[in-house]
Amino acid sequence: MITLATVEICVCDVGPRDGLQNEPDVLAPETRAELVDRLAAAGLRRIEAVSFVRDDRVPQMAGAEEVVAGVSRREGVELSGLVLNERGWERFAAAPLDRVNVTFAATEAFNLQNGNATLAEAVERAEAILSAAGETPATVTISCSFGCPFEGRVDPGAVAELAAPFVRRAEVVLADTIGVATPSAVRALVQRTRAQGFHGHNTRNTGYANCLAALEGGASVLDASVGGLGGCPFSPRATGNVATEDLVYLLEGEGVPTGVDPDALVGVAQWLEGVLGRPLEGYLHRAAPWPTRTGPT
Ligand code: MG
Repeated sequence: MITLATVEICVCDVGPRDGLQNEPDVLAPETRAELVDRLAAAGLRRIEAVSFVRDDRVPQMAGAEEVVAGVSRREGVELSGLVLNERGWERFAAAPLDRVNVTFAATEAFNLQNGNATLAEAVERAEAILSAAGETPATVTISCSFGCPFEGRVDPGAVAELAAPFVRRAEVVLADTIGVATPSAVRALVQRTRAQGFHGHNTRNTGYANCLAALEGGASVLDASVGGLGGCPFSPRATGNVATEDLVYLLEGEGVPTGVDPDALVGVAQWLEGVLGRPLEGYLHRAAPWPTRTGPT
């Protein structure tokens, strides 16, 4: 069993936002709302539900307000939405959501390519949204914290400097956006930055080991996506997000309670395969049923 610095961890399913945004399929708002409902019913206590971006830029995320309106809210389930600019914040503020997600990348080149901003401008944008957010719970995700498709390896010291002003004001999540990290790097950077969360990709099959390492480093929030939904935009044939059901199986087996029912989550992954008409990446929903170890042993 792993030794944890924290007692309670939160698995955040990012499938409805980060997952679907990186898939070729465009699902109707009511189907996306149903996905959120199914995830909540499986026991997920935090779900990244929507992104407030322009419909013409990201058609997969069109109709965020309709998605939110279509969700059956449950007590104790926190729904978050991604905001990239002031207009996005206005839309977020008008929606009944619980947590705002703000993101920027750790490198100059990635911000320029992906957000049309310099690193300094991207950080400034994040600062501005956080200021507008006031008391609203906020998460700042620093993408490419371990590697960048344009700049290669990222200096941990640079990430530590970027994270420092945000760690006191918001929950900071370090994202391994292109899935290049290995456990010791994840453990060390989480410790060094005191980041509260880790967003792992399984592009090179290190995603699950990295999640455990993040917990050992002191993180308490792990992002994952049901079925491993969401490809890797920079490696079209490679897998993207860590699959939530596989992560839950691993954590529960290691004595880390998640509150998530893995069987129900497998059901969600199978439903989603039907919706998308193709197999998803995760392993657990393809495997023969096997009891997850939960409770006292
Ligand atoms: Mg991702």
